[in-house]
Amino acid sequence: MTSNPFIMTNAAKAVIDPEAMVHNIQVMRRKASNSKVMTVVKSDGYGHGLVSVATTLAPYSDAFGVARIEEALTLRQAGIHLPIVLLEGFYEADELPLLVEHQLTATVHCDEQVTMLTNASLSEPLPVWLKVDSGMHRLGFEPDQVPDALSALTACDNVAPDIGFLSHFGCADEMDNPITQAQIDTFTQVTEGLPGERSLAASSGTLFWPQSHFDWVRPGICLYGISSRIELTGEQLGLKPAMRLTSRVMAVRKLKAGEPVGYGARWRSERDTLIGVIAIGYGDGYPRLAPDGTPVWLNGREVPLAGRVSMDMITVDLGPDATDKVGDEAVLWGPELPVERVARLVDTIGYELVCQVTGRVPRQYLTTTSEQRAAG
Ligand SMILES: *Cc1c(COP(=O)(O)O)cnc(C)c1O
Repeated sequence: MTSNPFIMTNAAKAVIDPEAMVHNIQVMRRKASNSKVMTVVKSDGYGHGLVSVATTLAPYSDAFGVARIEEALTLRQAGIHLPIVLLEGFYEADELPLLVEHQLTATVHCDEQVTMLTNASLSEPLPVWLKVDSGMHRLGFEPDQVPDALSALTACDNVAPDIGFLSHFGCADEMDNPITQAQIDTFTQVTEGLPGERSLAASSGTLFWPQSHFDWVRPGICLYGISSRIELTGEQLGLKPAMRLTSRVMAVRKLKAGEPVGYGARWRSERDTLIGVIAIGYGDGYPRLAPDGTPVWLNGREVPLAGRVSMDMITVDLGPDATDKVGDEAVLWGPELPVERVARLVDTIGYELVCQVTGRVPRQYLTTTSEQRAAG
């Protein structure tokens, strides 16, 4: 799926499984079977490839959600005709004609945006979602500001009728946090009796807070088979990881007991062993902060990272009796090794690891069906 003509895919690549994504969106649809699904594909489809993800999931989606206008325009250019919602709306007034031209939907979260809309002269009215701050305190109108914002938007000729109401959770991944129910209550009260559609749940809301489903759910991370809760893996939620990040062993070296490996000589072997050098590093988005012992999947078992992650390589302890060879495939995360496990070891979340896979890593889309793969 890459346009770089020089890419050989002999080193790091991210193999993307569209069937896994289709499975995942069906899981999310079943969880919120009375709601429409806004498929969130911001940040290059969470690193999986914006256009490919959108093309795969369009038949199962009612709309797409993105963060930046460039992402929306890329989808339109690729022939995506579903509604596209800019989850953060627009930043400057001169974007507005482009939004109308490409039939995008804007979120309106602040007075400045209302003023820009009021002062614009657009060829057609823009569909909008009004963002309510139900308690996260990042974006949106405070509950007591909502009536004024709504009447300003309703009175504005540049705004299409049927204004929707959208809000976002701050803690929906924490099952015992009372903030989430308080947000649901606030959102319900603020929008009570108003005619527009309502949307509150992202992945965690869709999976764990059925009372938050309303008219639209907006799953992102779970579509890629990754858990929105740090203590669980996607597999434990019935999801299938869509990305398999792989590379190859590029050298196998003998190391004597006591000898160090890599920058800063961080790791030393306690025994004579074999070290595998794998062609992936932080230049590919593998996290530099991965500690010694971080698992890498190789030839049917986990081997531990040994030494600091370099820009283009990592080193793993293969053990003294290893038979691994140059050219063998290693999996950094994927169905064999949940990205959530690697994420926990580097104090982050699966979201960040998949989003930061860099541009030099080709995304290779599987095109065979599961039947063909099973047949070998
Ligand atoms: C990113 C985002 C989502 C999707 O969140 P996930 O946790 O990935 O499901 C939904 N809504 C908004 C407003 C977002 O910014």
